[in-house]
Amino acid sequence: MVFYRTYRPQKISELDSQSVRESLFALFAKGFDVPHAFLFSGPKGLGKTSAARIVAKVINCEKHAKIKKTKLTESEIEPDSKCFQCTSITSGANFDVLEIDGASNRGIDEIRDLKEKINLLPNKASKKIYIIDEVHMLTTEAFNALLKTLEEPPNHAAFILCTTEFHKVPQTIVSRCFRVDFKKATDDEIARSLSRIIKAEGIKVEKDAVLEIARMSDGSFRDGTKLLEEVSISSGKKNITRQYFEEKFNTLGVNSAAVQFIDALMERNAKKGLEIISKISKQGVDFKFFIEKLLNSFHLMLLQKLGAIDSKSENSFEVSEIKKLLELLSIAHSETKFAVLAQLPLELMLVEWSEKDTIGSQSDEQTSRGPAGRFPPASAHSNISSEKSFLRAVGSPSTSVTPRKAPDFYESFINEVKLHNHLIAGVLRSCEIENTNGKLTIVAISKFHKEKLEDGKTLELLEKVAKNILGGSVKIEISLRG
Ligand SMILES: [Zn+2]
Repeated sequence: MVFYRTYRPQKISELDSQSVRESLFALFAKGFDVPHAFLFSGPKGLGKTSAARIVAKVINCEKHAKIKKTKLTESEIEPDSKCFQCTSITSGANFDVLEIDGASNRGIDEIRDLKEKINLLPNKASKKIYIIDEVHMLTTEAFNALLKTLEEPPNHAAFILCTTEFHKVPQTIVSRCFRVDFKKATDDEIARSLSRIIKAEGIKVEKDAVLEIARMSDGSFRDGTKLLEEVSISSGKKNITRQYFEEKFNTLGVNSAAVQFIDALMERNAKKGLEIISKISKQGVDFKFFIEKLLNSFHLMLLQKLGAIDSKSENSFEVSEIKKLLELLSIAHSETKFAVLAQLPLELMLVEWSEKDTIGSQSDEQTSRGPAGRFPPASAHSNISSEKSFLRAVGSPSTSVTPRKAPDFYESFINEVKLHNHLIAGVLRSCEIENTNGKLTIVAISKFHKEKLEDGKTLELLEKVAKNILGGSVKIEISLRG
């Protein structure tokens, strides 16, 4: 990740997105007397925070204090990256540029602190700048405090609000901000950013190869730099051609991993499949790309089976199996874009496929499409046992809980979890809930599911959701069905 850190954009002209560059240049072209608040919105990984720091530099750069014109060229707008303000903002040591993470502790203390100190003049800079990341996560209380501040901001302060979920930011705040939308970079935009690194590093890369790397990085500058770094290290000082890049990827094992993975699917061997996924995950293989390879292979198999194309090699899948696999892989493919863990959709797809036999005859008809219906509903048996165990879990002698409540709880529990993480909700659907010594225990059907649920943040979420529904504090344990 050396390239990524070294070549993080430091100027407006180095930002990936053309529309963002244009919008910022146009704004500052009229001088540095800018709006009090900015709102940067768009998916994660598109450089919103980098852009926020650049804007902070543009506003506070010492070079700009001397410019009094109101019609500025792009090079006049760019920060010099040399003065005290610029260098300390880059290193994160500037007292007048404060970064608040709305996601941690939901900003209560920080916004309170902000309210108290907002009227104090900046230390050295011309403006105090507050960068608030994930602003949609702030509590209502913190939002109201922020809104008050935005209504009457002191002249010496500016706010840069960033969010991945624009629709959750109240309209009252949006209307007071200069909005910049960050969209996924196009292949050409990524290629442009990569060329900046290629030039600075003096690496020789064919134009075709740069485009290929850009295409593989799917709009992520971070992924693109990672790929470029990998090939540039492995190629030594040699010219990187498109062919070299493709061969390099084959040696990384994507093709052979795809063949092995198809074997694992054939054997319905989840363990083997999970090992392959873990291996390629460590190699930094792009899962969307990997799933595309699998989809291509199964598509070819389908055409062969239907006699649409000639083939010497025979495959042992039935047409109905290939159809089902294409369907599961397509779902995994579309989910990969939004997955917190890139490999999770493929893992879930694999587990569902491998367990189909053990789930039995109900699977085909009852597995509905889409993430929510990924797993068949709990069987009648598990409903009864969860009902009983739930009574034991919450039904102290003094409270009367009707048996009907039990599945209701687990159902609303799953639905609530789904709002936060639909993949975990999918895992929960295949589990049962029980009570052991006053604790709620979620019984997972595989080690893989157990590990997913036990992950620190996930467990925290499950307990929080259970607490919201049941009130009081709730401990949750995850166990494995014996
Ligand atoms: Zn400067």
